[in-house]
Parts: sequence; structure tokens; C-alpha cells
Amino acid sequence: MARVFNFSAGPAMLPEEVLVQAQLEMLDWQGTGMSVMEMSHRGKEFMSIAEQAEADLRELLSIPENYKVLFLQGGASMQFAMVPLNLLRGRTQADYLNTGLWSEKAVAEAKKYCQVNVAADAKPNKYTTVPPRKSWRCNGEAAYLHYTPNETINGLEFQTVPEVDIPIVADMSSTLLSRPLEVSKFAAIYAGAQKNIGPAGLTLVIIRDDLLDISIPGTPTMLVYKTHVEQQSMYNTPPTYAWYLAGLVFKWLKNQGGLAVMGERNRRKAELLYSTIDNSEFYGNPVDPNYRSWMNVPFTIAKPELEKVFLQEAKAAGLVTLAGHRSVGGFRASIYNAMPEAGVQTLVNFMNDFANRNG
Ligand code: PMP
Repeated sequence: MARVFNFSAGPAMLPEEVLVQAQLEMLDWQGTGMSVMEMSHRGKEFMSIAEQAEADLRELLSIPENYKVLFLQGGASMQFAMVPLNLLRGRTQADYLNTGLWSEKAVAEAKKYCQVNVAADAKPNKYTTVPPRKSWRCNGEAAYLHYTPNETINGLEFQTVPEVDIPIVADMSSTLLSRPLEVSKFAAIYAGAQKNIGPAGLTLVIIRDDLLDISIPGTPTMLVYKTHVEQQSMYNTPPTYAWYLAGLVFKWLKNQGGLAVMGERNRRKAELLYSTIDNSEFYGNPVDPNYRSWMNVPFTIAKPELEKVFLQEAKAAGLVTLAGHRSVGGFRASIYNAMPEAGVQTLVNFMNDFANRNG
């Protein structure tokens, strides 16, 4: 079967060139006579793959020298615990912005370890916009501010980094690498890989090196950032194949022209989709245009009874995984880096045609 345009929120599409290269190297990585999956993580071959991946990521994001890059497991969900366990640093309170369902999960986990102050809450407006900065109630005693720059389910994305005077921690699972980023504005950034980075099973953490000295006593060794910093993310066996594939994705991004080029491409893709929705009476998206996500575009149709038909016909047209998250319904098109502009164009052509026939 021909490859489809897969709008899944994650695990998501990977660049075809990356998959082809992985296929070519599957049985014999660069004359070693073995697959990357079969290599010792401590051997010089895998070490070179690991080091190159980190170097390419550092170049893509211009990561300053005083930041460590970790290649971990446990998903972004494990970071919901690792962040308070490591970054409270003797304090007992933290500020969180609640802008969607992933923020809610981060808040719930942090409450096990500290007093959480929700400095701004978008829930009352159903996560369609972020309360204005001047209304936020930040806590002077907070160790850090945690937020979710892009809410994968609700399709709400900050277009700028919040201005606060405490360390900022960001769950960038569904936005990292989608556009240029000023890493130095953050104390720590984390992201599950399965959207813009590579396959599931790998979690990236980028953390300022002066924040690594204290974790809550009793924190399991595996949940202490310093453990992984001191062992170059090889305290235990890392997810070697996912790390390798992420490295191929980083090379692909560099070949595309880097994050400025990707950002422009992603902006065009999102604009095309939102303008199709806004110019139609048939489709709707409730999110404040100032906070609309470039990566995850939820939408509804005027006749919800046709949702199943929409999904069936879309699938027949090679457009798959467009159902909205089970908690919000409707549809969602996730248009990460690996979704080509042609995929979004095919989707909007289908949407216009469907509306003409059913609207
Ligand atoms: N945060 C965000 C913003 C997400 O989109 C996701 C996954 N969709 C998670 C956290 C949870 O990630 P994981 O499944 O890797 O734990």
C-alpha cells in the first residue's frame, strides 16, 4: 500500500527519508555487520551515534554550553514527577499554568511533592485561550514555573515565552523542534520523542547545569537528573534504537535547512488549515487565534452525525488518524515536522469537497 498521510498526535509520522535510511542500515550499520539494535550501548559504534545525535541537536537548537542534554525513558509523564523531585531544591511550592489536559496531569503529579499554585487557569474558558499575563497570580516562594507551551489535545499554543522572574520549566512534547527556540530562557525543557523527534520510548531533557545539585531525599536513583548527567544518559541501558532514529531525524532537519525553515513551513501548513476552517461555515475551531497551535489543529463539523462518514471517506483518500482525542471528540489534525505541505493540501482539498457535498 502507498504511504498515507497520518495525522496522529503521536506516535506520529516520521520523515520518509529517515525510514528509508533506517531500512538500508537495518541489517548492517556502516559495515559493522550488525543492526544498531544489536550493538552494545557502550561500544564505540553506538557511542559515536549517541554523540553525533547530541551534537546535531545542540546545533539545531543552539543549546548553550551550560545546558545538559539527556536521552531518557519514561515518557513526558515521568518528567511530571522528575521535575518537582529535582527542581524544588529545598522549596515547597511551585507555580503551574493550567492550559489544557497535559497541564492538568503535570499539576496532579506535582501535588504529590509540593504545594502547587495554579498561577493562571484556562479551564474556565474551556482551554480556548490563556488568561492575560497581568491576571496571573504568581507565588513569590515558588521554586519554578511549569507550563505546557503546546497543549496537544486542546490545540492551544503559546506564541511567546511567558515573562516571569523564576526558573521556567516547559513540557515541549508536541512543539520542540517545530520552530526556533531560545533555550536560555528555560531552566529545563522536556519532550517525549514520538511527535517531532523520533519513535516512542525516548524522552529528551535539556536542563541548565546549575540546577542539578539537590533532589528530594529518597528520590529513586533513576529519577535523579544528576544520575543521568554523570553517566551521559547511560546509567542503565538507554533506548538505543530510538536514540539512533532521533539522530537520523536531527540530520534530516539539518538537511531541510534547520528550525527556521521548519518554522516557516509549519506556519504555512497551520495557516492553510486554519484559513480553510475559518472560511467555511461547516468547520469550526474554538481556540483564540492568538493561541492556536501550529502542530495540533482540533476542529468540529456543523453536522456531528456525519463524523463517522468524514473519517471513513478521509481514510479512503489516504488521510488517517483524524479523530479528536477521546476526551474532546470532533477531529484533530496533527501536522508535525514530518507531515509534508502536500499532506495538509490534500486534507484541505478533502475538507472543502466534503463540506460542498454535505454542508
Ligand atoms: N505532555 C504532552 C504535551 C503530550 O502531548 C504528551 C503525550 N501526548 C504527554 C505529555 C505524555 O507523554 P508520554 O506519553 O510520552 O508520557
